[in-house]
Amino acid sequence: MTIGIIGGGAAGMAAALAASENENVQVILLERQARVGKKLSATGNGRCNLTNLHANEGGYHGEEASFARFALEKYNVDDTLSWFRSLGLFTVAEESGRVYPYSDQSNSVVDVLRFALERENIHLETGFEVEKVKKNGDIFQIEGTGGAYECDKLIIACGGLAGTKLGGSMSGYKLLRSFGHKCTKLRPTLVQLKSSWPGAASLKGVRANCHAQILHNGEVFAQSRGELQFTEYGLSGPVIFEISRDVCAERGQWLCRMDLLPEIEENTLKAELLRRKSTNLPVSELLTGILHNRLGRVLTKSVGISDYVPVAQLEDYEIDAVCKAVKGFEVALTEPMGMDSAQVTAGGIVTKEFDPETMESKLVPGLYACGEVLDIDGDCGGYNLQWAWSSGRLAGAHAGGNL
Ligand SMILES: Cc1cc2nc3c(=O)[nH]c(=O)nc-3n(C[C@H](O)[C@H](O)[C@H](O)COP(=O)(O)OP(=O)(O)OC[C@H]3O[C@@H](n4cnc5c(N)ncnc54)[C@H](O)[C@@H]3O)c2cc1C
Repeated sequence: MTIGIIGGGAAGMAAALAASENENVQVILLERQARVGKKLSATGNGRCNLTNLHANEGGYHGEEASFARFALEKYNVDDTLSWFRSLGLFTVAEESGRVYPYSDQSNSVVDVLRFALERENIHLETGFEVEKVKKNGDIFQIEGTGGAYECDKLIIACGGLAGTKLGGSMSGYKLLRSFGHKCTKLRPTLVQLKSSWPGAASLKGVRANCHAQILHNGEVFAQSRGELQFTEYGLSGPVIFEISRDVCAERGQWLCRMDLLPEIEENTLKAELLRRKSTNLPVSELLTGILHNRLGRVLTKSVGISDYVPVAQLEDYEIDAVCKAVKGFEVALTEPMGMDSAQVTAGGIVTKEFDPETMESKLVPGLYACGEVLDIDGDCGGYNLQWAWSSGRLAGAHAGGNL
C-alpha cells in the first residue's frame, strides 16, 4: 500500500513516521520547500516550544474544539515526550509547562525528525509543490511541480495560512476543497495587535511585565499576565499573543488595559511616589527605578504633567493619576497584524467532515487531514505543535493500518 503525504512540516513528518511503522507500507512525503520543517525551525524564537505539560482539550479552539480530544488523549503530552525521546531528543520543561529541546535549538527537533525519516519505506521529495489532487476509482492521483504520483491513501498536512514567509499558504485548503470539503473564515491568531495610540512608536522595543486585559465595549474579552513588548505599530510579546484571538473581529471599541506593575499594590506605589515629593527629582524621573525609563516618562506625560515640573511641586491628585496610569494604562486597538506576522491560523477545514478517531474524511474514504489546515488552533505555549504531533501521528497510524 502506498500513502501519499503532502507537506513536510510538523504534522506531515509525524504522519510519515507513524505510517511507516508498517513495513508493508510505502510512504511518499512531498514538501514544496527546499527542506522539511522550515516553519518548525523558526518556532519558539528559534528554541521550538514543542509542547506544553498542561496541554489538554481546554486549550484548543475552533467551531468544534472537542474534535481535538481523541487525538490529544491518544497521543498525549507524555506519549509525545517519550516518542521524541525514542527519536533521540532530550527535552526540558520550564515552570510554565512549556517544553523545549535541551539544546535550546529548534533545529534539534527538525534534525531528529529528518534523521528518523531516513527509512527504507519513506520516499521524501523536497521542492515538489503539489498543485492538483484527485481520486480515480480507489486511487489518488497527485500532480505537481516535480511530476506525478499515485497512492492508495492521501494525507493532507499542508499547514495553515499564518507565517506566509515560512511557508504558510492557501494550498491545503484548496486541495481539500477540491474534494468537496468546506473551509471556515480564516483569521490570524497568536499575533501582534495594532494600536492607534501615537505614543506606541516612542516606546518601540520597550518590554514590560504586565497583566493585560482586552476590553470590548468596556467588557473584559480576554486577559493574561506575562511579557509585553511595545512596537512601532502597537503591542506585541507573549502576553499579547495569548489574548489576541479574535480581537477586533467584531465592531465596537477595543482597548488594551495594562497593569504595568502587577505584583505591586496601588497603595504601595502611591506611598513610594509621595515619598519622592521630598526629593529634588524632575517629573521625568518620577518612575525611575520602578519602570523602564522611557515607559515612565510616557506615562507621566500621558496624564498631562510636563517633564520639567519638579516632583516636589506635584499635587496629590497628580500622583494619584500617575498611579492609575501605571496600574491601568489603556490604549485603543485597531486590528491584528496580518497573516504574514501571525503564528497560527484560526479557522480552517470544517472538522465535522472528518472522523476525530482516525482523521479520515467522511466525504472521501482514504483521504486524511491533520495539523493546522483543520479548524483547530491552540493557545500560546506549545499547544499548536502538540496538535500537529497528535493529529499527524493519528492520521499516519490509521492510514498505515497501525492503530
Ligand atoms: C514564527 C512562528 C513561531 C511559532 N512558534 C510556535 C511554538 O513555539 N510552539 C507551537 O506550538 N507552535 C508554534 N507555532 C505554530 C506552529 O509552527 C504551527 O502550528 C505548526 O507548524 C503547524 O504544523 P503543520 O504541519 O500543520 O504545518 P506546517 O508546519 O506549516 O507544515 C506544512 C508544510 O506543508 C508544506 N506545503 C504546503 N503546501 C504544500 C503543497 N501544495 N505541496 C507540498 N508541500 C506543501 C509547507 O511548505 C510546510 O512545510 C509558530 C508559528 C510561527 C509562524
